[in-house]
Amino acid sequence: MSSAVERIKRVMQEIVVAETGPNRLNAFLSYQYETAVSAAQDVDSAVSRGELRALAGLPVAVKDNICTLDLPTTCASRLLSNYRSPFEATVVQRLRAAGAIVVAKTNLDEFAMGSTTENSAFGATRNPRDLKRIPGGSSGGSAAAVAAGIVPVALGSETGGSVRQPASFCGVVGVKPSHGRISRYGLVAFASSLDCVGVFGATVRDAAHVMQIISGHDAHDATTLDQPPPDLVGGIDDTDMRGLVVGVPAEYFPADMDPEVAALCRQAIARMKRAGVQVRDVSLPHAKYAIPTYYVIATAEASSNLARYDGVRYGLRAHDAETIAEVFDKTRSVGFGPEVKRRIMLGTYVLAAGYHEQYYARAQRVRSLIARDVQRVFDSGVDVLFTPTTPTVAFEPGVKADPYELYLSDIFTVTANLAAIPAISIPIGTVAGMPVGGQLMARRWEERAMFRAAAGLEALL
Ligand code: GLN
Repeated sequence: MSSAVERIKRVMQEIVVAETGPNRLNAFLSYQYETAVSAAQDVDSAVSRGELRALAGLPVAVKDNICTLDLPTTCASRLLSNYRSPFEATVVQRLRAAGAIVVAKTNLDEFAMGSTTENSAFGATRNPRDLKRIPGGSSGGSAAAVAAGIVPVALGSETGGSVRQPASFCGVVGVKPSHGRISRYGLVAFASSLDCVGVFGATVRDAAHVMQIISGHDAHDATTLDQPPPDLVGGIDDTDMRGLVVGVPAEYFPADMDPEVAALCRQAIARMKRAGVQVRDVSLPHAKYAIPTYYVIATAEASSNLARYDGVRYGLRAHDAETIAEVFDKTRSVGFGPEVKRRIMLGTYVLAAGYHEQYYARAQRVRSLIARDVQRVFDSGVDVLFTPTTPTVAFEPGVKADPYELYLSDIFTVTANLAAIPAISIPIGTVAGMPVGGQLMARRWEERAMFRAAAGLEALL
């Protein structure tokens, strides 16, 4: 039987190979051979003592905005380039307790703000399916690590699609839970009412397994649901889809989307029909407001959450400053990259006394309308919604130079974050060799129904 130590040594070698040479992925920001191997030794001896652990020896890569004790937590920002957390995220603690080994921290858009992983202060990540293209973002490093076959699973984070969109672009499974299903303790905050830890997996089963382990109430996060999570893995043993009601929202197939992506989605829908699924056309009339609503709320919350990086409490400090105001000013000027600054400025603006009602308060009301649309569809008897994950396949760096155009690549994913519902992207085919993802969304707390449908669809493809 191959031991955890052997497996982890092999993975660490693969990481080194992926990070050197002309085909460098730049998916990993830190890793440490000795600590990973010694963690594997501990798991091996626990197993030999007869202590069974659900994820014994499983190598996991963790997005670098999730706090770990043995490796730095940089958020791919200059501001936190040497930061080490004094505590570990609940999700990481739970993975370790189940016998998983954290092998590396992965690259991301700075503070998870972006859709391509080009916003990292430590260089862009490349898509293993085509090195000339971006892997998506913001969890691009974790998506690339799974797509390259280096790890079977990885943790990412979601505020508006940062797990599902790169999963779709890299051809892997990516899932976000209901807001409140998984503890955010130790996930560096971007926009707290939208943020979730998410999971990447090579298969639906792998993703379900890891999500099961990290879900559940946490005394350190008062927003977690105080109830045991459902049996996600048990739910997917049965891939029979007969009788399932799948809603297809018209608004998610706009005229200007990539016709080949739309065709693959139609094909998946046709297969589900043949497998006995009842497909219903539905409407989410406020979908067209999802992007502006998301970018008002996300930037407002970000401007507040990121106020803590002042050069005093964390990370980088500008040394050429005379006064405390100059410390704040210079630290933030050199520490944050352009996208983070853009978001802080936009967020500060929409919260300003004179504009608050016009932008922030209005966005909150539209958020309720978006959530109500979704609720109404589920109340009408729809079990899950099916949509494309993204309107296009992965593109080349720099082609979407206009930030607003880039924001549109989240158009199909932000609704799940605004409505706090679970959603998953699974590979449904390729267009000219590039993967396409299909998205399933379920009612809040119905991760089990979502995983069941996803496993059913995965088996059909
Ligand atoms: N791409 C979106 C953004 O830039 C989503 C990011 C995320 O989910 N963290 O905000």
